[in-house]
Amino acid sequence: MRSRTLPALLALLLLLPAGCQKAPEPTELTTFAMDTMMSFTLYGEEAQTDAVLAWIPTQLGALEAELSATREDSDIFRIDRAEGQPVEVRACVSELLSDTLELCRITDGALDITAYPAVKAWGFTTGEHRVPDEEELAELAAKIDYTAVGWDGPAVTLPAGMELDVGAVAKGYAGDLLAETVRSKDISSALLDLGQSTIVAIGTKPGGKPWRIGIRDPAGESYLAVVELTDMSLGTSGGYQRYFEEDGEVYWHILDPDTAAPARSGLASVTVVAPSALLCDGLSTALFVMGLEEGSQFWRDHPELEFDALFITEEGQILCTAGLEGRASLAEGYEDREVTVLR
Ligand code: AMP
Ligand code: MG
Repeated sequence: MRSRTLPALLALLLLLPAGCQKAPEPTELTTFAMDTMMSFTLYGEEAQTDAVLAWIPTQLGALEAELSATREDSDIFRIDRAEGQPVEVRACVSELLSDTLELCRITDGALDITAYPAVKAWGFTTGEHRVPDEEELAELAAKIDYTAVGWDGPAVTLPAGMELDVGAVAKGYAGDLLAETVRSKDISSALLDLGQSTIVAIGTKPGGKPWRIGIRDPAGESYLAVVELTDMSLGTSGGYQRYFEEDGEVYWHILDPDTAAPARSGLASVTVVAPSALLCDGLSTALFVMGLEEGSQFWRDHPELEFDALFITEEGQILCTAGLEGRASLAEGYEDREVTVLR
């Protein structure tokens, strides 16, 4: 008995050093940008230099300075104050506006960057929330129209009286740019968390397993589902992310461009998974406005966009598109819930 146990024990000891190898240490950074806390986890030798940590806040700061609708030196601010005159914008703003206007078009205006005056009227830019009356809402809705934005190369023209902002896509755009830089530095394993549920997963976790991202229960504080990502981005839009309450009524920050009021489509959150973080960010906002029926039909009609979505309704129903089958699962404590797969 003993003689047989000893070789087995020895074999186990020989195996141990490999099996117990210490997990690689990540390089981590947390920074505040675009009104939110962002955190970055990067693996590999290339990530372990101070320069890597320095360029992330630098790149984010530069982007914020160009894209903020409230900073007086930003291109977006200049467009909004130009009173109908063309404004030459920097290359990156031009690229972002071009891509975003295309998303406004594809989503038939569910995403509309000219909703900004309505966003301001509800007080979401200052925190001084108020509920505009019917008349004011009708006036605001009449002025939301992305097709009126003139875009000619680097020159952007917005009719006087209209204002635009890129709040619905800026974090996604930043995620794509940062990911490009990370990859160019030969970092092949990283998680870029741009806050408010915009995430870029680069490669896999060290060891080859996919990154696991928790999806918030819109009706609580915990994670309801987990989505596995490898070289993929994710964006969630939800009413719970920014809202205020007045007279027992909840008003959130995602507006229906048709009414200029918070979009009440029956959805509590939408998560989009796609290679491009900009697409995830823009589409999650747009699908939230569309609602489940229209949003799932949009997914069927647009295979060329290569995205998948996870919808959570206000009643707590969970639905995901076919591409997430096997990549999305219920989180601990939610195992008894049902996930409907859309095809
Ligand atoms: P997100 O959190 O990515 O869903 O984007 C929501 C933000 O985009 C809001 O805080 C507004 O600034 C702006 N916004 C709200 N509704 C829309 C809409 N329908 N289209 C474009 N931008 C919107
Ligand atoms: Mg968005």
